[in-house]
Amino acid sequence: MIGAGQAGLSAAYFLVRAGLTPGVDMEVLDANPTPGGAWSHRWDALTFDHVNGLHDLPDSAIGPADPAEPAREVVKRYYGRYENEKSLKVQRPWRVRSVETVDDGDARFRVTADGPDGATRVYLAGAVVSGTGTWDRPYVPWYPGRFGGRQLTTRDFTTPTDFVGRRVLVVGGGISAIQFVMLFDESGVDTLWSTRTPPRWRDCPFDTNAGREVEMRVAARTRAGLRPRSVVAETGLPTSPAVLDAIDRGVLVSRGPVRALTDDGVDFADGTHERVDVILWATGFRASLGHLAPLGIRERTGGVLMADDDVSVVKAPGLFLVGYGRSASTLGATRAGRRAAREAMLATERRDRAISSR
Ligand SMILES: Cc1cc2nc3c(=O)[nH]c(=O)nc-3n(C[C@H](O)[C@H](O)[C@H](O)COP(=O)(O)OP(=O)(O)OC[C@H]3O[C@@H](n4cnc5c(N)ncnc54)[C@H](O)[C@@H]3O)c2cc1C
Repeated sequence: MIGAGQAGLSAAYFLVRAGLTPGVDMEVLDANPTPGGAWSHRWDALTFDHVNGLHDLPDSAIGPADPAEPAREVVKRYYGRYENEKSLKVQRPWRVRSVETVDDGDARFRVTADGPDGATRVYLAGAVVSGTGTWDRPYVPWYPGRFGGRQLTTRDFTTPTDFVGRRVLVVGGGISAIQFVMLFDESGVDTLWSTRTPPRWRDCPFDTNAGREVEMRVAARTRAGLRPRSVVAETGLPTSPAVLDAIDRGVLVSRGPVRALTDDGVDFADGTHERVDVILWATGFRASLGHLAPLGIRERTGGVLMADDDVSVVKAPGLFLVGYGRSASTLGATRAGRRAAREAMLATERRDRAISSR
């Protein structure tokens, strides 16, 4: 198991339930120094009451949490407790550098991981479940020109007060961008907002049916080997009284797309120029799949061709992706963990049978 975020922990739990023992016939490797997956890096102002909803891990509820506490701390505690309760023995910080195919007895894959103090470990595995999320791969679109000020991505954001006295351009049409614009507004930071297309405000609730429809649209793409689109392109943007108020006050009003970067700011597509000190790229993430490059599973489109179960990788039997495409939410990740564990157990059994009948 590679990665111990929501997807990895769920898969690890179901693998244990299927009879595997961590440290004996399975390993959970995670690059982070602490429990919490990507949540362990989220900024202070993303308090628990600001998250869209966190689905429970299997067989253990997150329980009540202080709404004003940073979500990062709540989730770190929850995942840490879960790892202990379920005896998952997560190995960290171990970053998987590569997964290659081998034909060595009942092993299909050689997994090489880098750990503390320059240590390296090599594992042979009959099946690999990869749940490495997106946090390591922030996406920044290319624009002509060169900006002389500070640039950062969602990953590097800490607190709005770091930006007081500066003029900030927030780029991006997703939930993080909206939260940044509103946080800056609360802290009195002079802010501009740019989106590539007009903001896609959602005028209906995001209920179970809407969630299922989004999942099916994403699955249709990944089953065709296409790269998943941005989250907001699929879900639209939720509105709340605070968001509607910020729209009314002209705070959450997009200046439209950027056309080019200049030394002191940006040119917008409408021909106007704005001087800014900082550009915060809240322009989304791509799946973190670099360690799987030796397997050659990427299509020319940049996506990975997924089977109809949405966890099996068509071009690499025995490899399963969780938290990818359809399962890139805490709910989807939890469900995908169950499917991947079941398929991984079946794949190793099939392999054992094939070897013993040679
Ligand atoms: C700002 C933001 C807010 C979000 N809010 C919500 C929300 O409110 N509700 C929701 O459902 N979803 C939300 N999401 C999506 C959310 O991140 C996912 O739902 C879920 O937490 C991702 O879980 P994961 O296990 O797939 O990935 P992650 O949580 O990213 O876990 C992946 C783990 O794999 C490890 N890893 C990566 N590469 C390697 C490697 N090569 N070797 C070993 N380990 C590796 C990482 O260190 C990490 O611990 C949000 C996303 C963002 C960016």
